[in-house]
Amino acid sequence: MCGIVAYVGNKEAYPILIRGLKRLEYRGYDSAGIALLNDKELNIYKKQGKVSELEAFTINKNLKGNIGIGHTRWATHGLPNDVNSHPHFTTNKDIAIIHNGIIENYSTLKEELISRGYQFRSETDTEVIVHLIDDIMKTEKVDLVEAVRHALLSVTGAYALVVISNKHPDTLIAARKSSPLVVGIGKENEFYLASDATPIVEYTKQVVYLNDEEIAILDRNSGLKIVHLSKEEKTPYIQELELHLEALEKGGFEHFMLKEIFEQPKTIHDCFRGRLNTEQGWVNLGGLKDYHQKLLNANRLIFVACGTSWHAAQVGEYLIEELARINVEVEYASEFRYRNPIINEQDVVIAISQSGETADTLAALELAKSKGATIIGICNVVGSSISRITDAGSYTHAGPEIGVASTKAFTAQVTILTLLALLLANKKGTVSAAKFHEIISELENIPKKVKEILDKNNLIKEIATQYKDAKNALYLGRGSSFPVALEGALKLKEISYIHAEGYPAAEMKHGPIALIDEEMPVFVIATKGTSYEKVVSNIQEVKARKGKIIAIVTEGDEQVKSMADHIIEIPDTNEHLVPLLATIPFQLLSYHISVMRGCNVDQPRNLAKSVTVE
Ligand code: GLU
Repeated sequence: MCGIVAYVGNKEAYPILIRGLKRLEYRGYDSAGIALLNDKELNIYKKQGKVSELEAFTINKNLKGNIGIGHTRWATHGLPNDVNSHPHFTTNKDIAIIHNGIIENYSTLKEELISRGYQFRSETDTEVIVHLIDDIMKTEKVDLVEAVRHALLSVTGAYALVVISNKHPDTLIAARKSSPLVVGIGKENEFYLASDATPIVEYTKQVVYLNDEEIAILDRNSGLKIVHLSKEEKTPYIQELELHLEALEKGGFEHFMLKEIFEQPKTIHDCFRGRLNTEQGWVNLGGLKDYHQKLLNANRLIFVACGTSWHAAQVGEYLIEELARINVEVEYASEFRYRNPIINEQDVVIAISQSGETADTLAALELAKSKGATIIGICNVVGSSISRITDAGSYTHAGPEIGVASTKAFTAQVTILTLLALLLANKKGTVSAAKFHEIISELENIPKKVKEILDKNNLIKEIATQYKDAKNALYLGRGSSFPVALEGALKLKEISYIHAEGYPAAEMKHGPIALIDEEMPVFVIATKGTSYEKVVSNIQEVKARKGKIIAIVTEGDEQVKSMADHIIEIPDTNEHLVPLLATIPFQLLSYHISVMRGCNVDQPRNLAKSVTVE
């Protein structure tokens, strides 16, 4: 959450900052701001709302300067107004700062600074850092870098930050702890800085990911220097980015979310490519190769995740327990980390996170590691914090996901978990060779079948028109389709603001059935398989109370068709792979309903991607 971008070099900084902020806008869009340093004059512009509003506001302003910082905010402390926007600056406007994260001890520091005469303009936690730096420079008579270091030793919480000062016209100072920051190395002492690589990739592929408690000094005369908070100097580890610019564009689609939904035949394929072989009959996850025994002999596999990733983990639980007969637990990372969980060396804790930066998930992993568990990551963003702190892991290879509502990252996570379940089952001998073979060859057909569902987009849009004004919605499923129902409900509520709940179909009679009337759409996954007949009965129960049934059924189904108000047929597949198909119509339904309601599909209110605050 919050996007940070900065530049120092010999180009004009303003266009780089604005383009960078637009790329990062999915991380927060409450407000945006920049600070540009031109000939010792620090010009700061900030505006509530989108980056485009900042752009309109800065037209005709002094936008000169080869060094600058930019921020797009997801507010944690203080309203999303102009004053609370970043950058924040010292009283005499000598130093400005942008920050992503939360300073937990800000109120104590603020009181102290106020008692020393500092006046605060904003309600943010961030503003304390800039006054603290100023105060340290004055009282301890140290230079700016040293003052930043001292200030960071006094704060608790999470930060990625960048400091600019008119007394140092060639230098940016950046630091991170629990929030991501990447340095891009351009030509001849030209540097970029950003929360992720998306604003950097069009200029350079050479990057350095900062580690926790590191300070980077980017100077266009003397180059890049990295020091730890302890003062120890670090050698920058330069990596080559594998990101391509086209992946960050809408490619002709109206919204990123729609593009990402339609990318799924490819992203699912990219996810399993090279990881299975039907002829030779194997499944392999290279990143886990040294951990097979650990996984097979584990007491429990504990998945920690948040949001959509938590739903993917739930699908994983069904698959791994069913196929590999290994005990699996699924935990909300934010609950797990605060309830003193019982974990030991025999446990394997697996984090699932699209961004690989989710603050609660990261903290849950650290806790598990401290208790001796093996920690594994399933992430989409290469080089992310989770992928770097884990013992081993697998990337989902879905490519950048820009739409705030996760779609292709979810199906990629489910694909990895399917591969993991199959790999463990095969090694453990808990599935027959014939069944193993049947599932892996069917997995290869999934991209084609996803495409067939996407071809029904017009039908799904037509159904969406009938439910766009609903006030509530229920989503029902059983077995591994239950987490798909949860995910369907989440998609609808996050982008269309319709209240929606997912339930195991049989649980309905324990409460939610009381909500059903002729106004209530009930989305049901009723595909062929173990619980089919039971789900049919649940549909009858809804119909008896005049609820509207929109059912996802297996192609050729007649029974549900005769009862439902609408059906969406999906191709027949192995029961274990249904989640990969059944989720697609729900994504499209939510998308169309959101568009029809005039909502901002890619940037839904109050949300942001990459949840780097706890
Ligand atoms: N805590 C800061 C603010 O509210 C930064 C928020 C964030 O990183 O999301 O302005």
